[in-house]
Amino acid sequence: HRDLHLSIRRQRQMCIRDRLNVIIFGKPGSGKGTQAAMIKDKYGLIHVSTGDVFRKNTSEGTELGNIAKQYMSKGELVPDKITIAMLESEIKSFMPCNGFILDGFPRTILQAESLDKLLVNLNLKIDLVIALDVPNKNLINRLLERGKTSGRSDDQSKEKINKRLEEYDNKTKPLIIFYENQKKFYSIDGVGSLTDVNNRLVDVIDSKYND
Ligand code: AMP
Repeated sequence: HRDLHLSIRRQRQMCIRDRLNVIIFGKPGSGKGTQAAMIKDKYGLIHVSTGDVFRKNTSEGTELGNIAKQYMSKGELVPDKITIAMLESEIKSFMPCNGFILDGFPRTILQAESLDKLLVNLNLKIDLVIALDVPNKNLINRLLERGKTSGRSDDQSKEKINKRLEEYDNKTKPLIIFYENQKKFYSIDGVGSLTDVNNRLVDVIDSKYND
């Protein structure tokens, strides 16, 4: 009985302290996934990577996976309608929680607008958008390196990598202004060791949240 009470109380505290909803932003290969995983552990957040969800569905051969694969294999974005519906059900599946970190979403203005609407309905908001800034020449090498071990086909050809960088420029980059207008956008240098980059990230988060 006491245990049950404790766990209910803990759960309530977690809902109340919904203190940190972060978007980690950047080009393909900028280190979003790695850094998000580190931040998630440090702050006890839920980590949502839309790329990971798509890859899981692809490997399980679900309907969503089969559709997503057609786009992912070419280095193109999965259409908004599909991606937004998937993200919405992901977020609802782990609510309430202590906060979350989105990695790889949003990637278009429509996705960002839909996210804002969804969060308003859930009485939540995005607190911070942090971009990892890495020059293209570093990215291409990083992705080709990752391709050797990740098994990700979209990391294994220069054409697919270039297509993803092009998609970023055309569809994702406008989000910088979108979030600057909301006064939520921060950018940090994404070049350096994992620890160095992580320290820069933690500095931004703590400067807003440890007061
Ligand atoms: P990532 O693991 O974040 O690099 O994503 C891998 C691939 O999944 C991308 O190249 C897209 O094809 C697809 N994808 C992931 N997130 C999104 C998103 N928010 N919108 C559209 N496509 C996405």
